[in-house]
Amino acid sequence: MARILFNHVYKRYGKYRELAVNDFNLAVEDQEFLVFVGPSGCGKSTTLRMLAGLEDISEGEIYIGDTIVNDFPPKDRDISMVFQNYALYPNMTVFENIAFGLRLRKQPKHEIELAVKRAARVLEIENFLNRKPQELSGGQRQRVALGRAIVRTPQAFLMDEPLSNLDARLRVQMRSEIIGLHKKIGVTTIYVTHDQVEAMTMGDRVVVMNKGVIQQADKPENVYNKPVNLFVANFIGNPPMNFITGKLMENEGRLEFHTSRFALRLTDKQAYQLKEHRLIDRSVVLGIRPEYIGFDEAMLEAHSDSLVTGILAFNEFVGSDRYYHISIGMDKYFVVRADSRYQVDDGMKVTVAVDMSKALFYHKDTELLLTD
Ligand code: ADP
Ligand code: MG
Repeated sequence: MARILFNHVYKRYGKYRELAVNDFNLAVEDQEFLVFVGPSGCGKSTTLRMLAGLEDISEGEIYIGDTIVNDFPPKDRDISMVFQNYALYPNMTVFENIAFGLRLRKQPKHEIELAVKRAARVLEIENFLNRKPQELSGGQRQRVALGRAIVRTPQAFLMDEPLSNLDARLRVQMRSEIIGLHKKIGVTTIYVTHDQVEAMTMGDRVVVMNKGVIQQADKPENVYNKPVNLFVANFIGNPPMNFITGKLMENEGRLEFHTSRFALRLTDKQAYQLKEHRLIDRSVVLGIRPEYIGFDEAMLEAHSDSLVTGILAFNEFVGSDRYYHISIGMDKYFVVRADSRYQVDDGMKVTVAVDMSKALFYHKDTELLLTD
């Protein structure tokens, strides 16, 4: 088990290609469960593969423990990797599939037997050890793939979208099994997913990537509540955060956010921070999550000085909640997340209240967070 360190790591495929990984700096703590998340092509797999030794590092160093492993072949890095296409050997039994890596390492037979049985017990596949992969369900196969990884205790587990081939229900179940497994064996784990919900529910820390660059590496709560830039704010959260561009103007000594349709008063703290950035009379982007806008009595009463009027364009029923899409003019919508029991008809005029204490302000050009 070990700490892992990426120090100014770059990856360029071919000579003139764009950077797939661009100045990647990150310390993964011993025993941490860290998640890489980001859109397809942002460099998650490349970063993992460089750590595993499956891909050359163009520049920089990768440490496992205190050792620079740049020039180590994969087998000398003491890492176990689980892939999306877990590719079990079809002609081997579950036992043989799990034992395969240990046999390659020429471990004594009785040790292999003990290790496979222990892994099978943890994953609750002891009863399938003599079956062939095609005699198993998707979830059971996925467990065998995990078994291959956990049959020994390496320095780290690397998992590249291991659940994306499973149906939604099984995926949720396997998520908690992987987390449970990590709690039991405590090996440093880097888990890759493009699914932000998976990232948020599983990670001790979440690393949000875009175009080969780390955008934010933080606890899930911080990534959700204080996204450091517009990319993270937009990527994390479903339905996504609402964004609207407007101008900051002073009115009777108070700072307000103005659009052509409405004005919202900032909190003292927001006003102070935006003044520090010298953004009075300048355009900024206001971000507000759908749960911090509402049209129920309690919201309207609590935030009676922050009202916006619009037309309910349509609503989406998602069970206990509904997403209400409210047209606020200028081709703009506020999506409000609220109890699905509210009776509001499409086409109706609605007044919503905005909890401005939860609003975030972003710089229009740098797209960086200005307030907290
Ligand atoms: P992710 O896993 O986040 O979807 P990847 O790490 O697979 O992203 O890819 C990052 C970038 O590198 C993409 O632009 C992809 O097209 C490119 N890339 C990945 N593998 C190769 C390769 N073997 N040769 C050339 N380009 C590659
Ligand atoms: Mg990938």
